[in-house]
Amino acid sequence: MATPDDKFYRAKITERVDITPDLWRIRIDPGGEFRFQPGQYATLGVEGRERRCERPYSIVSSPYESEIEFFFELVPQGILTPELHKLNTGSELLMRKSAKGRFTLDLSGARKNHLLVSTVTGVAPFTSYIRTLSRDYQEGRFPEGHRLFLINGASRSWEFGYHDEIRDVAARSMWLQYVATISRPWEDPDWTGEVGRVDDILRKHTDQWRLSGDDTIAYLCGHPEMIEHGKGILQRLAFPKEALREEIYWVPAKEAARKAAQSA
Ligand SMILES: Cc1cc2nc3c(=O)[nH]c(=O)nc-3n(C[C@H](O)[C@H](O)[C@H](O)COP(=O)(O)OP(=O)(O)OC[C@H]3O[C@@H](n4cnc5c(N)ncnc54)[C@H](O)[C@@H]3O)c2cc1C
Repeated sequence: MATPDDKFYRAKITERVDITPDLWRIRIDPGGEFRFQPGQYATLGVEGRERRCERPYSIVSSPYESEIEFFFELVPQGILTPELHKLNTGSELLMRKSAKGRFTLDLSGARKNHLLVSTVTGVAPFTSYIRTLSRDYQEGRFPEGHRLFLINGASRSWEFGYHDEIRDVAARSMWLQYVATISRPWEDPDWTGEVGRVDDILRKHTDQWRLSGDDTIAYLCGHPEMIEHGKGILQRLAFPKEALREEIYWVPAKEAARKAAQSA
């Protein structure tokens, strides 16, 4: 029988940065080879007193980096995030040795525009795309003709985990357009950027950038309601099913209760 050591690395946290009391990012040394593609997720866990608890987390870093980075939101009533939140530089956590997921950048088809739509920690896979393409661009491997358009939302500007990094890449790159938006501007009066929820401004920017379902793939990541609304807006703009990708981070409590009742 496989032991935990066959399937898991005991990864070591090399850096922790707290962004707000309930948002933080870490970098880890997996302690062994860990292959992944930008947009995939790792399965992280901690060994509890009675059982191990694991959850999927999108990888922020690029495969070009030697360490792996994650961006977490604390769910106070949750099981794993309160445990992860206790860990500091030098602490160990469990990480499955193989990455998973299909939320990767599709560079294979005729659609060369990529509309990336995220809330808070949902920017993680997109940061991995951007870091990877930045390096590819510098080293002359950039996939010709492809362009990224990112809309990232949070309640207030201090909840953006990667704002400065992405803004700086966008400022020097023709291939990246970036809009950050906050939904509670009255709590953040110094913010001079876009305001409104991601789904409120999605139509406006899709039109301004002249993106259509014929030339664009949309990738929606993070909050389940944002994804539901965002998909509806894009479908009304005639984005076909094959041009819509999603990574839903959690099932809303009402939906989870309905599914549980159905299977009972
Ligand atoms: C493919 C994938 C990638 C993911 N990547 C990330 C990531 O990069 N960063 C990250 O922080 N999380 C990410 N998640 C979510 C993560 O896997 C956990 O669900 C989350 O961290 C909560 O775990 P928990 O054990 O603390 O809460 P749980 O005990 O699993 O959940 C408790 C309750 O809270 C709800 N819930 C879970 N998450 C949230 C939330 N953020 N806000 C409000 N309610 C919530 C659940 O539906 C449940 O009702 C990802 C999920 C998936 C499926």
